[in-house]
Amino acid sequence: MQEETIAAIATPEGKGGIGIIRVSGPQAEKICHALFRPKKGRGPLETHRLYHGEIVSPERETVLDEVLAVLMKAPRSYTGEDTLEIHCHGGPLILRNVLASVISAGARPAEPGEFTKRAFLNNHLDLSQAEAVMELIEAKTDRGIELALAHLRGDLSAKTDSLRASLIEILAHLEASIDFGEDDAEPLNAEELTNKIGHVIDDIEDILATYSEGKIHREGVTAVITGKPNVGKSSLLNRLLGEKRVIVTATPGTTRDFIEETLFIEGLPVTFVDTAGIRDTSEEIESEGIALVWEKTEAADVVIVLLDGSNDLTKEDREIIDRNRGKTIALVVNKSDLPQKVTIDSLGGMIPETEPLLISAKYGTGIPEMKEKIRSLALHEGEGKKADIIITDLRHKKALDGALGHCLAAHDGIAEGLSPELPSLEIRDALDHLGKLLGETTTEEVLDSIFSRFCIGK
Ligand code: GDP
Repeated sequence: MQEETIAAIATPEGKGGIGIIRVSGPQAEKICHALFRPKKGRGPLETHRLYHGEIVSPERETVLDEVLAVLMKAPRSYTGEDTLEIHCHGGPLILRNVLASVISAGARPAEPGEFTKRAFLNNHLDLSQAEAVMELIEAKTDRGIELALAHLRGDLSAKTDSLRASLIEILAHLEASIDFGEDDAEPLNAEELTNKIGHVIDDIEDILATYSEGKIHREGVTAVITGKPNVGKSSLLNRLLGEKRVIVTATPGTTRDFIEETLFIEGLPVTFVDTAGIRDTSEEIESEGIALVWEKTEAADVVIVLLDGSNDLTKEDREIIDRNRGKTIALVVNKSDLPQKVTIDSLGGMIPETEPLLISAKYGTGIPEMKEKIRSLALHEGEGKKADIIITDLRHKKALDGALGHCLAAHDGIAEGLSPELPSLEIRDALDHLGKLLGETTTEEVLDSIFSRFCIGK
């Protein structure tokens, strides 16, 4: 239990219907008695009951606001500590005054995420659940909210626990063959052991494969529009945004900066990035820009490769396609309103896994279909089985990557006939990584860096 009592305004800055001050720690009840004067009755507040009353500044006996207050006694609160919530009128000055009187009554201002950190330290949430709180607040899509709620419910923790249980069992078998007789577990032969580790490896790989989808629900999608100069990249972005923001010219190489705009496609936020025209150039600024284009496309969730259907394909078009191979590509042929030199048939073989789309940025033909295509490409719809757990957080991905590496090393070590000490060390390391995911083997520094990303009052 923490000794200090913390307090913060838990609602966003600015004017609002109500604004909430949250107080947590051993002094919460005392602070409540010092400042809150219920309309009815005088005695101590019952826990988990909302009271109507006033906040009175004890020094000057002035009423600061008419409020609703609720005291939640430990351990039945978010943090697991005595918690007071004061629901004030949502004026920034009122909230500042009430917070100031709470602080002078014995609390200190909370750090970002400190309420959730206390919930974690008091074992009300494990680390992945604490992070799910942030994920929930920041979710970009309805599906993102659904995933965050599943994480908050503890689905990821339960899955991690079951992976750990399997590894602990494997470890027991391995250690039984090191000092036989002392443990309940039977020593298993190499094939039995590698099979068991193989299952864990498959499970971890399945979860890791969900990260790209998970990340999208957390961060949204980035779709980079790339193509040689004059194919109509700026025109396409203008068309998508429905206004003339990007300069469109008939002189190749005029869009030098990245222009980014976010659009919602059926609830999914997609940030479209217009890039500088890619072509061989001697002009310095432009070639710098082109190097950045490759960086942008590298990080994109979807690369829109735009071609000009009214002209023959060139070596530059082919180079762009080649350099993006292996990425999620939407192959889009623009200027469908003009007589066509590039036909869908002639493109058929270039990127076998994607069917080219025909559009006219100038007249808007094919744009709804293109948007739908980008959405479904980003979400990898129709690919493989749906995992029951989806990871969205880079830290979780890294912990699972770490666990996977050690499981693979243990697997190979056993298959190669190494003495069991070495694979058992690998399994211990894998367990350590899974422990990190749940926050059991995480340093104070890591915790601080996680919670500092939270908002104040959460
Ligand atoms: P960027 O260099 O790839 O950004 O290309 P721009 O968007 O600046 O367009 C280059 C030229 O192609 C401009 O003159 C546009 O008006 C023209 N253009 C773009 N899209 C279309 C289209 O769908 N049909 C026709 N006919 N012209 C287009």
